Amino acid sequence: MQKTNLLKSDLLLITPPFTQLNTPYPATAYIKGFLNTKGISSTQADLGIEVILALFSKKGLSDLFCHTERTCPDFFGSGSAILQSFNVQRILALKEEYLKTIDAVIAFLQGKNPTLALQICQEDFLPEASRFAQLEELDWAFGAMGTQDKAKHLATLYLEDISDFIVECVDPNFGFSRYAERLGRSANSFDELYDVLNQEPTYIDKILIDILRNRIEEVEPKLFLISVPFPGNLYSAFRCAQFVKQNHPHIKISMGGGFPNTELRSLSDKRVFEFFDYITLDDGELPIELLCNAIIKGGEFNLYKRTFLLEDGKVAYRNDALKSDYKQANVGTPDYSDLQLDNYISVIEIVNPMHRMWSDGRWNKLTMAHGCYWGKCTFCDISLDYIKVYEPVAAKLIVDRIEELAEKTGQNGFHFVDEAAPPALMREVALEILRRKVSVTWWTNIRFEKSFTADLCLLLKASGCIAVSGGLEVASDRLLKLIDKGVTVEQVAKVTRNFTEAGIMVHAYLMYGYPTQTVQETVDSLEMVRQLFEAGVLQSGFWHQFAMTAHSPVGLYPEKFGVVKETEAIGTFANNDINYTDKTGIDHNKFSFGLKKSLFNFMHGICFDYKLQDWFDFKIPRTTIPSNFIDKALNDADNFNVKLTAKIVWLGGKPITETFTKSKKGNTWEMMALNFHSKKETFSIQTSKKEGEWLISILDKISVSNEKTLTFQEIKADFENTIEHFELFWYSKPIHTLREFGLLVL
Ligand code: SF4
Repeated sequence: MQKTNLLKSDLLLITPPFTQLNTPYPATAYIKGFLNTKGISSTQADLGIEVILALFSKKGLSDLFCHTERTCPDFFGSGSAILQSFNVQRILALKEEYLKTIDAVIAFLQGKNPTLALQICQEDFLPEASRFAQLEELDWAFGAMGTQDKAKHLATLYLEDISDFIVECVDPNFGFSRYAERLGRSANSFDELYDVLNQEPTYIDKILIDILRNRIEEVEPKLFLISVPFPGNLYSAFRCAQFVKQNHPHIKISMGGGFPNTELRSLSDKRVFEFFDYITLDDGELPIELLCNAIIKGGEFNLYKRTFLLEDGKVAYRNDALKSDYKQANVGTPDYSDLQLDNYISVIEIVNPMHRMWSDGRWNKLTMAHGCYWGKCTFCDISLDYIKVYEPVAAKLIVDRIEELAEKTGQNGFHFVDEAAPPALMREVALEILRRKVSVTWWTNIRFEKSFTADLCLLLKASGCIAVSGGLEVASDRLLKLIDKGVTVEQVAKVTRNFTEAGIMVHAYLMYGYPTQTVQETVDSLEMVRQLFEAGVLQSGFWHQFAMTAHSPVGLYPEKFGVVKETEAIGTFANNDINYTDKTGIDHNKFSFGLKKSLFNFMHGICFDYKLQDWFDFKIPRTTIPSNFIDKALNDADNFNVKLTAKIVWLGGKPITETFTKSKKGNTWEMMALNFHSKKETFSIQTSKKEGEWLISILDKISVSNEKTLTFQEIKADFENTIEHFELFWYSKPIHTLREFGLLVL
């Protein structure tokens, strides 16, 4: 078991197995960062990555194979019925090869052993089981991949083979980024989870408990905080709590995070409190501070913030503290210390560009704003604080946090985990990043707003933005209106074009099965998506089937959307997903395969000429969308008028100039050539000497490195101080050339 150097502290914060393998889930780092501002020491651990590393090691696999052979003695033994699949037999037969390679492969995926890529790509290094059968299908995808990526993908298949082995022989609930997820998924009743928790711990549980035992002994906490972001962490969270309750009953245990925030709001089953002392909802800072004050500092327990606990043998919800939640400016910078940042593993699970970003690379996670500035979409949890309470963080503070995190973690990749990052704030953050000359790579979630102009996209790209994801949902203007998404398909096409042309990858969340959606609308939506990919303005996407959740407008007022809840009863444990019937009576599920298969092909730039009917094995109507709908939207003239208040920014450098005289028909006048070096090329413009001198001075004033930005109106006034006809100059060829090379109107 790997020993760590965790310090003793009063608080231990953990993320239980499993979330992502490539980067820590940030919730504990956020809370630790906040606790730092209060002078409360804490220690954090991501037990997910620790379990994976213990399991996927020479010792871990050796134990696993021994365990399997011990529990299935017939395999190599008496020749009686062999119970395992061919795949399991093959992996067991090749076990020495797995033991020989596992540590090197994990080190490679941790980025510590890059030269192994060459051997992996030879395809005679790794033992191969059933996952490698997909390889032929993927051969074409490898054409575009570099050696490192291809090797990462092959190594991922190798890990997935082992994972299949674990699922079949040891633990059917195992998964790389979730564990026993089925038990946590909208379990209205606690019965099943409770029963499982009262059974013997699983093989994976035992590895988890071993690690947890060490952490508890090292840290000796008084308060144990478990963050549960997803249903796939819930079971392990209860196992961890159970172990601590049974073995260290003096330690108080609290749960918080995305799962309780959305699912446990109407909790009433008191058996949950055999495992936990507290469950807090929404932002964790203040509820946790109050618990710390009482438990660690020994203050009186009297006031709580959004906290469930057991009182007089009954579940009580206490929210009587008068203090308000902390403002974003006062929650501190996430602190990733204690986490084993060098040990995360990058995998390439699917050949989907955006999912790749999720699973590949180490990303520091930050937010530009709390909540969503739009807050209207009718399928979204807009009644809950994490969406409803919108509070942006000042751009300077965001970049302070970027610099602090980059320095502490040594990583300059940032994933802004906003619900939808606001365009104006993204602009300010980009300007601040460029001003401070910080080198970062970042990506985030957005709405496809009109305000993402070509120039703004260029600015974002210059600041290090490499990808955005946003909801196109159902690509149908009627349904976008019903969703209250605030965008049209035409607008999405233009905005995605702006991002794409700037070199920023775009991923669209796509939805089908929205209440009242007709078959025709599903087909038309697929046609829109086909055209967007064919036009090259989308690079990645994912179809989700609509799910009705309790805290969305559809869940709260189903009658307005033509759906009927199957039951009004509220469960005693988790409540979020609602079963419903749609009055259209359409089985949307049957579209799932065809939508996903077509998208997979479109993402790889193929099959645009297939008839939509070819994707389905049942009859669908013809699309009503004209085949040039997206092309037409992209070719519609944009409005070139510049607002007087627009900010004008120059991303380029200073020109090298020369003056010369031009003469025509007996007249002579002085001209200036301005020669610029952009990162990739050099270019020149020519103006009159006077205009050239003005340009040199104004480019200096509007350079992105300046603290102050000037508006269009201000530069116009500056020009007209000495020269006439600003508009004529602004719309002339030299300025047009500068606009192509980084003179931005924002
Ligand atoms: S779906 Fe996205 S844009 Fe719409 S309200 Fe929710 S977070 Fe905001």
